[in-house]
Amino acid sequence: MKVELLLLLKRIVLDIALGKKPQKDILKYVTRVFIHTMTRELENILVAKYPDLLKGIRQNPRTPLFFGVECEDGWYDLINNALFAIQQQYDQLEESEKEDTCIIQIKEKFGGLRLYMSQTTDAMDDIIRTAESTAYKTCEVCGATDNIATADTRYIRTLCQVHMSKHKEFYLQVPNK
Ligand SMILES: [Zn+2]
Repeated sequence: MKVELLLLLKRIVLDIALGKKPQKDILKYVTRVFIHTMTRELENILVAKYPDLLKGIRQNPRTPLFFGVECEDGWYDLINNALFAIQQQYDQLEESEKEDTCIIQIKEKFGGLRLYMSQTTDAMDDIIRTAESTAYKTCEVCGATDNIATADTRYIRTLCQVHMSKHKEFYLQVPNK
């Protein structure tokens, strides 16, 4: 089935303009094309464990962290490990430095993990580099580390074989223009 993304977007905007609720399945489809995020339960665990690093998450619409952790659950463990190690470095900072040190964005981009901070130490940079390279060997959906590939669709993702075939099936429905 060919789905016209723009028509779907128009439909959502029209529904909202007319005060109607947009259809759930359409919203879900369009959302999944544009953004994918960690489930809220897992994100909340990270926020509870690292409140200082993730301060401001989902608070200010003008900041990237407003959208939460922008990758799927398969990378939870490696993000958790990275934040744990960053937290240990953070704890050694002077109080004045702590105030200005936090995560500003965690997201998937071109099949890779991107973890941005307001400022970093060399040790933090190393931790981030390690996490980002581990992500290229980890399925973003399920966390598997065997048979990992980077998708050759327009929406590049790093996935295991099972999720790669699902990914291709899904995105082939999305029109090119
Ligand atoms: Zn997988």
